[in-house]
Amino acid sequence: MSSTKTIGIIGGGQLGQMMAISAIYMGHKVIALDPAADCPASRVAEVIAAPYDDVDALRQLAVRCDVLTYEFENVDADGLDAVVKDGQLPQGTDLLRISQNRIFEKDFLSNKANVPVAPYKVVHSSSDLDGLDLSKNYVLKTATGGYDGHGQVVIRSEENLADACQLADTADCVLEEFVDFNLEISVIVSGNGTDVTVFPVQENIHRNNILSKTIVPARISDELSAQAQAMAVHIAKQLKLSGTLCVEMFATDDAIIVNEIAPRPHNSGHYSIEACDFSQFDTHILGVLGAPLPAIHLHAPAVMLNVLGQHMEKAQAYVRANPSAHLHLYGKLEAKPNRKMGHVTILTADVDSCELIAGDASS
Ligand code: AMP
Repeated sequence: MSSTKTIGIIGGGQLGQMMAISAIYMGHKVIALDPAADCPASRVAEVIAAPYDDVDALRQLAVRCDVLTYEFENVDADGLDAVVKDGQLPQGTDLLRISQNRIFEKDFLSNKANVPVAPYKVVHSSSDLDGLDLSKNYVLKTATGGYDGHGQVVIRSEENLADACQLADTADCVLEEFVDFNLEISVIVSGNGTDVTVFPVQENIHRNNILSKTIVPARISDELSAQAQAMAVHIAKQLKLSGTLCVEMFATDDAIIVNEIAPRPHNSGHYSIEACDFSQFDTHILGVLGAPLPAIHLHAPAVMLNVLGQHMEKAQAYVRANPSAHLHLYGKLEAKPNRKMGHVTILTADVDSCELIAGDASS
């Protein structure tokens, strides 16, 4: 059997591009499916330009590739099931369905994986919010379609409750108690169907609901850090995980609470390209190919700063002033505000010094 495979990636954005780069230097060939012929993956891979739900295009990808994977979770799971051959999609579609719907996701996390989640209830309409005890705070989230804080209402008052009722009457939702966390953290874990390997704990700082900065290792106790990694490993084993998964969590003074999972490499794991001996993309490719997985070592503490459309000039200036910073640009043609254009990784423990503009994480 040839050790060179053709890997099909559904989605040719920056995650698809960085997966492809890992696959290519391991000797594989990559074909990406993306609606845009000039998507980031087109810099390094052949692209089939078609909508994600185009079953003929998915079938063409399946016919031409040995193994299929995806770079985002909102893939049409039924469409994929219809075209893949046995064993061709090691990640399967069950995990896709879990992570596409917060009701299934919460059920999986709390009842099957048995990890701590914020107390929650499923809400089908505003009447499920009747008599809500407003001495506590909550977050109402739509079951499907929400991302980066969209489709969410934080409930701290009667006024918020009215907004939440409106949302609850438009879509099935999950109502969670608001967690008074110290830090948001995440853990990347990769599996090959049998074994798993886990990355260090990442601390994530968001601005306007978009990841702004990741600090590794996260500034939490060794004990909490070990708990977070153990939970991620446990979830991965429950799933018989193939490929890379990100587990997003909240850290309080003495507990870790799991928020959500993403069945793919994640923005908060980009630091691993330079700071670890294998990146989250390397282990994703190894994992979906069923290859043995290495233990992960962090070479040095790291900070990752996202470069959004409004940061392009600042990022260029930053790397001119700090030549040991690693600038990644994804090759997106248009720099729109809040669009993820690239990221910068700096190998340092001096986390406060790392901002695209000194003293202003929002810039
Ligand atoms: P999510 O879409 O679930 O990742 O939520 C987006 C952001 O909302 C998270 O990164 C948190 O900052 C915040 N958030 C979500 N759920 C909760 C919660 N139960 N308690 C406090 N903050 C939350």
